[in-house]
Amino acid sequence: MSDANALADSFGRIHNYVRISVTDRCNLSCKYCRPDQADTASSPQPLTFDEISSVVAVLADMGVTKVRLTGGEPLLRPRLEELVARLHAIRGIERIGLTTNGMLLASKARMLREAGLTDVNISLDSLQPERFAKITGGGDVGRVLHAIGSSLDAGIEQVKVNMVVMQGVNDDEIESFLQLTLKYPLHIRFIEYMPIGRGTEGWQAGYMPLGGILERCANAGWAFETVRSGESSYEAAGEHGMSVSTTDSGPARYYRIEGAAGQFGLIDPVSKHFCMACNRLRITASGHIKPCLYWNDEWNVRPYIGKAEPLKHLFLESLKSKPVQHEMLGGLKGNGSVRPLQESTFRQMSQIGG
Ligand code: SAM
Repeated sequence: MSDANALADSFGRIHNYVRISVTDRCNLSCKYCRPDQADTASSPQPLTFDEISSVVAVLADMGVTKVRLTGGEPLLRPRLEELVARLHAIRGIERIGLTTNGMLLASKARMLREAGLTDVNISLDSLQPERFAKITGGGDVGRVLHAIGSSLDAGIEQVKVNMVVMQGVNDDEIESFLQLTLKYPLHIRFIEYMPIGRGTEGWQAGYMPLGGILERCANAGWAFETVRSGESSYEAAGEHGMSVSTTDSGPARYYRIEGAAGQFGLIDPVSKHFCMACNRLRITASGHIKPCLYWNDEWNVRPYIGKAEPLKHLFLESLKSKPVQHEMLGGLKGNGSVRPLQESTFRQMSQIGG
């Protein structure tokens, strides 16, 4: 890859990670994500596997090494393992991840791993069956737990569980989730509730900064330590304007309870900015590049598919507009925007791909 091709933005951030939403359809209706939507396709046809593979081949040539498939619910796409195998065959792609609600995962975990899947992030906001069903609009927590077990059994390298922490909704389960790390080699990641798409409704009441979780861990009597290897570099990234490199752990800060098989991580996009370590861009289900999760700017890749040089140019152009940081809190209040010419995204998380 020549330097001219590197996916650098105006602030020197190099992008080596792409998240691709393979569908905006979902089989759940999480209250903070897509509360009242039936399972219908709302966007034009999603990109085909051929189109996705061709875009990823171009991105690999520009230094992308990691791809995450997301949605909507990515496992609603039939034969997703075929896409994984095709991406795995692209030179330069080293890691392929999947973000899923786990409802359809158990029977596919082994096939996906054999196709080349290295990471799976499973969303799980409650361990209590009734509460889980309420948050997700009918999800079955038993199926998700089974999928987590199947993913570990299948030998997927990294199995992560993502819990969106919501005050008064599930924050009383933090200790139960921490407890899971004692026995299982999981990464449990606590994530702040973001004011995005439908997430803005009820956000004020549900948002909870993650600052208190370490204290709660200590109060529960667990000694813990920071996990140094693969530690996020954003803490060292400093203020604006410097070039940073990121590690595979992304924006999470990881900890391990003494003697635990797994780890837990804190991801706080709202209360802490880790934008200077941002190494990712997104492609929506409708085929639009989103350089920043939060802002509205988008570029349609469809007209450029199969034309490597114009597509590279489009990616580089899109990165020129990437703001130094999102402004979730300011954006929500209608002030404090770093880039006043931009508007916060009109898309929902299920369309963008979380
Ligand atoms: N259906 C898959 C799943 O449930 O993991 C993938 C798509 S979902 C949009 C991806 C992730 O986005 C999930 O972990 C979900 O919890 C998270 N998410 C959606 N809306 C969010 C919000 N407002 N704040 C924080 N996380 C959110």
